[in-house]
Amino acid sequence: MSTLVSPHGGDELKPLIYPKDAQPDELKRAEGLKQIPMTSRETSDVILLAMGAYTPLSGFMGEADWRGCCEEIKLSDGLFWPIPVTLSADEELANSIDIEEEVALVDGDSGEIMAVMEVLEKYAIDKEAECHHIYRTTDPEHPGVQKVLDQGDINLGGRVMALSEGEYPGKYPNLFLRPAQSRALFAEKGWSQVAAFQTRNPMHRSHEHLAKIAVEVTEGVFIHQVLGKLKEGDIPAEVRTKAIRAMIDNYFVEGTIIQAGYPIEMRYAGPREALFHALIRQNFGCSHLIVGRDHAGVGDYYGPFDAQHIFDTLDESALIIQPLKIGVTFFCEKCYGMATARTCPHNSKHHISISGTKQREMLSKGEDIPSEFSRPEVVKILQEFYAGQG
Ligand SMILES: [Zn+2]
Repeated sequence: MSTLVSPHGGDELKPLIYPKDAQPDELKRAEGLKQIPMTSRETSDVILLAMGAYTPLSGFMGEADWRGCCEEIKLSDGLFWPIPVTLSADEELANSIDIEEEVALVDGDSGEIMAVMEVLEKYAIDKEAECHHIYRTTDPEHPGVQKVLDQGDINLGGRVMALSEGEYPGKYPNLFLRPAQSRALFAEKGWSQVAAFQTRNPMHRSHEHLAKIAVEVTEGVFIHQVLGKLKEGDIPAEVRTKAIRAMIDNYFVEGTIIQAGYPIEMRYAGPREALFHALIRQNFGCSHLIVGRDHAGVGDYYGPFDAQHIFDTLDESALIIQPLKIGVTFFCEKCYGMATARTCPHNSKHHISISGTKQREMLSKGEDIPSEFSRPEVVKILQEFYAGQG
């Protein structure tokens, strides 16, 4: 019997997708409904609802849930929820929809009908208030704030049933895992304590060290990649997966790591998003989330350890999953090994660190990166990628 943590808010996952055999008929029906275009973030949220990652939500939030989430980190029924999951439309389109009308939700990029929603509420939000609570800033330069300010003026709340998970299952057959599948995989391995490691990057030795600390205190580590929209300069998922695989195969004990990915679009909300990443990983069956320096941050909007501290402010009943708080890790020439600020007493001039920009520059030129910073097997794959870019 599996002793994995329960999904958020109950005992059952709540995937919101029509069964495969019902999808063609439901799609035909949806083609006759009013079409609501979605941003890439809203489409990503539909897929996460579909796969059960947002258990126990039943769709896009109504006003009371939105307000509770922003102001008190709670839904209207008291359940902990740190990030709004909302759908917006412009006023004209919203006015044309009746309450209890079913509409088709369409991926604004691909034009694919992704889901059917029964609209139960239409409400205007105070966008600045949302940004202030969630992002701790209303600066339009912040990428998450920018998306809120750009979204339609009216939110549509209601029950969602998905028809598709988009391109992800086909594009990432070896990475795209639903929460029910990761739970089955963990149970099959006999794991009950699993630490999730969120990444958008190839893993260098500092990340390897974080994962190894987690392996020491749990039964396995779930390396969980972000498969949503990339930022300029990000390494494509295929290359990243290969580089991470090279690290796992050469430097971890077999059977201690599972690599997968999920289609979230980053909001860069720092501390609030770290809570959200934890909640989602609880649904995937993880007991811990590794929270390092500036988790889900961007620029200098958040203090380097704000995302760790916010977990200390939660009620005990908020989440079952726990943060695994680990400081910055590095190779220290004096310690002659990997260390953190808690374990190394030496001046940072002895620590080997290379900025992301510098790494890209070195890799593009085919230069070697010191093996204290990144494993040669990983460096080789990244060099090949950058050589192909030139
Ligand atoms: Zn040291």
